[in-house]
Amino acid sequence: MRHLSLLSLGVLSAALLSGCQQPSATAPGAPRGEQAMRHLRYLNDTIGTRVQGTAAEDQARAYIAAQLRDMGYQPQVQPFEITRKNKAGETRQVKSANVMAVQPGKSEQEIVVVAHLDSVAAGLGADDNASGVGVLLEAAQALHGQQLPYTVRFLAVGAEEGYSDGVQNGFRNDGINGSSFYVGQLSPEALHKTLFVVNLDSLAAGDFLNVYGSEGADGYVRDAALQLGQRLGYDLQTSPGLADEFPAGSTGDWSDHAPFAAKGIPYAYFEATNWSLGDKDGYTQTVKHGGIWHTAKDNLAFLNREFPGRTEAHLKAFSDVLIHLLEAPPTR
Ligand SMILES: [Zn+2]
Repeated sequence: MRHLSLLSLGVLSAALLSGCQQPSATAPGAPRGEQAMRHLRYLNDTIGTRVQGTAAEDQARAYIAAQLRDMGYQPQVQPFEITRKNKAGETRQVKSANVMAVQPGKSEQEIVVVAHLDSVAAGLGADDNASGVGVLLEAAQALHGQQLPYTVRFLAVGAEEGYSDGVQNGFRNDGINGSSFYVGQLSPEALHKTLFVVNLDSLAAGDFLNVYGSEGADGYVRDAALQLGQRLGYDLQTSPGLADEFPAGSTGDWSDHAPFAAKGIPYAYFEATNWSLGDKDGYTQTVKHGGIWHTAKDNLAFLNREFPGRTEAHLKAFSDVLIHLLEAPPTR
């Protein structure tokens, strides 16, 4: 009921006088990004650091499932195991899981919106990636029950971040586990009906709003998002292609779009960063403080103090563009 307390009496009585239904947080004119911000705050303040295979990662998953259930979805949890190895060749199994919910559309063809729910051990994962989870949940709420052209699957994945126990020759594993597991268990038919994927990773801290996409003709989702950004009045940009490895408009295979892209599924990938800095590979997010992700600076108090208003503005812009993209998805 939090959203009702945010409405001024004037808005409420005007709605009642005009015979409208009770306004909701997702009604036209509701402040976009506010729900995303609420989720980010909960993940940052109440749960905090969410390393793969820990109780905190579990708590984050349970929170997302509960939020989706409250919206009217029937969330499904998809467990998987991760193997950590050390240099002596020993292995350890760790449990993680994805959580997802589906909004059926007119077509069974499906768009997947993915965001990772885990974080590294440093910081509270406000930017990386409570911001992405927040925008995913805001879109899920805004679109619940709508007549969408395509089915949309909201997929919050575990264990995107790599792991190292910090001991020399200790146990470690690479990341991108949850999305790899999701893609790996798809039948050929399910793979075929996946139209494209939208990855949300680290939306809050970086200097500029970016969207990347597949190279060539499969880049149509990125292009549609760029057009939407322009139409909605946001300064949404793409990678300039200053480093040889990343042609303009594309990016590296370091996040949850990668397992989809490896199967030939077109992607769009939203991220806030600054491509003019450092090695010009998008890794140095800000002029003021360099990279925020994977450092102790990745917490909401730091972001609010050093970049006042930025997190709110970014979540608003990304939520707005994503929701419009899902309401009227582009076709190739
Ligand atoms: Zn991330």
